[in-house]
Amino acid sequence: MLDRTLEIKTPEQVELMRRAGLLVGETLELLRGAARAGVTTGELDALAEDNIRSHGGVPSFLGYGYPPFPASICASVNAEVVHGIPGARALVDGDVISIDCGAIVEGWHGDAAITVAIGEVPAEVTELMAVTEDALWAGIGAARLKGRVSDISRAVETTVRERGSYGILEDYVGHGIGSQMHMDPNVPNVVRRGERGPRLVTGMALAVEPMVTLGGAETDVLADDWTVVTSDGSLAAHFEHTFALTPDGVWVLTALDGGQERLAGLGVPFGGR
Ligand code: MG
Ligand code: MG
Repeated sequence: MLDRTLEIKTPEQVELMRRAGLLVGETLELLRGAARAGVTTGELDALAEDNIRSHGGVPSFLGYGYPPFPASICASVNAEVVHGIPGARALVDGDVISIDCGAIVEGWHGDAAITVAIGEVPAEVTELMAVTEDALWAGIGAARLKGRVSDISRAVETTVRERGSYGILEDYVGHGIGSQMHMDPNVPNVVRRGERGPRLVTGMALAVEPMVTLGGAETDVLADDWTVVTSDGSLAAHFEHTFALTPDGVWVLTALDGGQERLAGLGVPFGGR
């Protein structure tokens, strides 16, 4: 049975979400190029806000929640996993920074995140990033019409577990997205016993976002009420995309190529254009 609380998008609305998604994807590529030793997270935030606004978008993170999030990106460095607040911190060689970005175009949201290494990082950190990004794509690739949200969770979790002893955050999850940034359903990164989640149908849009650590899955929130850090101080990675299910397959709205290349590698039908 169709869950009536879920927002199902028309093809026209998915097109608008693609515009928001592309703006987010392009902004993240801009930041990937700008993130280097000596650059502050506040400078990256200013670049992002500028790029979003100059292309007709509105930064969705700015003023979000309580206390109102004070920036247009989340910049989470090293043991910070997600929701880090940009500021005067200058990146140094050996850092890893997770950058999360959201934008609204004509009322429709896009949400995506990347983790970037600054200079040389140990091989295990490069592998952590690869595992997390592969888990994201495996999750997206597991989304099939008539399947379940738990198919995504299972693919994310299995991909991470098969690659080694990593921590997968369970207190923070992916989500439905559309006319708001965070909507039903939750998209957990691990399978929860007895929870299959709603059925996947055409017009559904989801953000998948594995958060993976080199240590445990336990986290704390800093006194700023936002920054989520690993309790054991281990490094973390976070990758996210927003995708929609269309009659033809999967359309990764925040990927510059719509996900075409990675989906082809997974043997998953591309549902974009
Ligand atoms: Mg995000
Ligand atoms: Mg998200």
